[in-house]
Amino acid sequence: MPVALMLPTSSSGGQWNGELPLTEAMRYVRGPNNSRWHRVRSAVFYPKWRRTHYSFWCGPSAGDPDGGGVLFFQDETPQFDDTCGTCVGRALGAKQDAIPLGLPQLRFDPRWQAAPSLCPGSSSRTLWAPVGYSGSAGLCLVCGDTLAIRCVGKGWTAYGEGPVRHKPGPFLADPCPFHAWQRLDLLDGKVRCLCGWPHDLGRVEIPDVAT
Ligand SMILES: [Zn+2]
Ligand SMILES: [Zn+2]
Ligand SMILES: [Zn+2]
Repeated sequence: MPVALMLPTSSSGGQWNGELPLTEAMRYVRGPNNSRWHRVRSAVFYPKWRRTHYSFWCGPSAGDPDGGGVLFFQDETPQFDDTCGTCVGRALGAKQDAIPLGLPQLRFDPRWQAAPSLCPGSSSRTLWAPVGYSGSAGLCLVCGDTLAIRCVGKGWTAYGEGPVRHKPGPFLADPCPFHAWQRLDLLDGKVRCLCGWPHDLGRVEIPDVAT
């Protein structure tokens, strides 16, 4: 049984061009390149282009041409696939439908919390040390891998040398709790965050002031 959709209200102004809001749709939607199922918040049919646009609760939207075929839909709770935690939380919080007996496998990837796919030492002019005498190999000080050393930059910005782009090796440096791996550089001969966070300092628990 499909679920009732919200109105496709928007803060951005525009001219009405004959588009029509849909009243209901199946609960879960997924595009061909989506890593997880999302939930439909609202949908608009554009007769002129014979196309329906579905908005997800987490923000993005996706279009399906008349007759479908691009997006996948299902009404039942996904059993084995990941499902967008933001979409499910918002849809249930807004009481789009009743809380189901079983929740799907929820997923949300907080920004910066996962280790980077590209090592921050890639193309860095400072975060490496030469290996051997040839000058063509270097040790990435961020991840501990030995890599080819190349010119950094292109055209007018080409100067200095650094490791080629690479995935993090086995000894990826600890992240800064405030900036993760985004601002690492070489400070006093050590890989540190540019904000000055002392990497040997741990997190603290708030002291109990009542005692
Ligand atoms: Zn979503
Ligand atoms: Zn590296
Ligand atoms: Zn920092």
